[in-house]
Amino acid sequence: MNLSIALYTLMLGIACDAFVAQLKPRSISGMGLNAARQPIMAGNWKMNPGTEEEALALAEGVAKLLGEETCALSDDEANEDTCTEVVIFPPFPFISKVKDTVEDIGLTVGAQNFFFEDKGAFTGSVSAGMVKSVGCEYMLCGHSERRTLFEEGDVNINLKVKKVVESGMKPILCIGETKDEFDLNIKKEVCAMQLSKDLFGVTKEQMADVVIAYEPVWAIGTGLVCGAEEANEVHVFIRECLTNMYDEEVAQQTRIQYGGSVTPESVDSLMAQPDIDGCLVGGASLVDEKFSRIVNFKKL
Ligand code: PEP
Repeated sequence: MNLSIALYTLMLGIACDAFVAQLKPRSISGMGLNAARQPIMAGNWKMNPGTEEEALALAEGVAKLLGEETCALSDDEANEDTCTEVVIFPPFPFISKVKDTVEDIGLTVGAQNFFFEDKGAFTGSVSAGMVKSVGCEYMLCGHSERRTLFEEGDVNINLKVKKVVESGMKPILCIGETKDEFDLNIKKEVCAMQLSKDLFGVTKEQMADVVIAYEPVWAIGTGLVCGAEEANEVHVFIRECLTNMYDEEVAQQTRIQYGGSVTPESVDSLMAQPDIDGCLVGGASLVDEKFSRIVNFKKL
């Protein structure tokens, strides 16, 4: 390590320690507010598959395999809070037809991206209102591929989160550390910083619609899954941050997904953790059998 990197690391460490100390969570243990949180599984198709025909075949496959086992429009109201909510994020051109294919079995669709302005001369962009009008209920915000490949910063992510909730939709806000940040042992500092910047100005009431996805960047698309207990520890820390930013009620009601190379093999142990409320799935959501197995995780 050369001197400037060592100095940078030291300074970052000191800055983060100070930041986290400032955020020092109040204890939430034993507060008796352990709200039941409805599990939520999401499939992020990213820029896949290549054609509309393939997209519809995948949607049909998922619909067939999940059948009545999801939070379908069942008459059983008692089941509503415990059945698993499922959201699919197809690329823009496929959203409407995928929605038509999956809505009858109770699946929801969302958009992977949008621009926070309402309309105007923004060639190539789509607005929150546009995707809402074709039936999207959820929006991904702050996905690491948007942060890194498209240089999206926290200021814009914050504008997007606010736009989504103001439009009556629900953001899935993705946060998480890179491999370098993991190696520097500052994953909690990174998550705390992203939460405070990305949720700036979001009210307590609006938090009822916000889902957080903890996605260690080094685990996305790499086949490296974060250990279930290790992930849960970060989820607990995220709740502590939410307690500090809002209150214990918000911390306990907010659903927090884990994302990063989730597979049928890893889902059961992840979902057995008390603070993991669902998964955001990339690669495995492109294979109907894998995604349906993930949705139908086994309760250990
Ligand atoms: C993602 O896209 O958010 C993701 C977690 O991808 P993967 O499951 O492929 O790691």
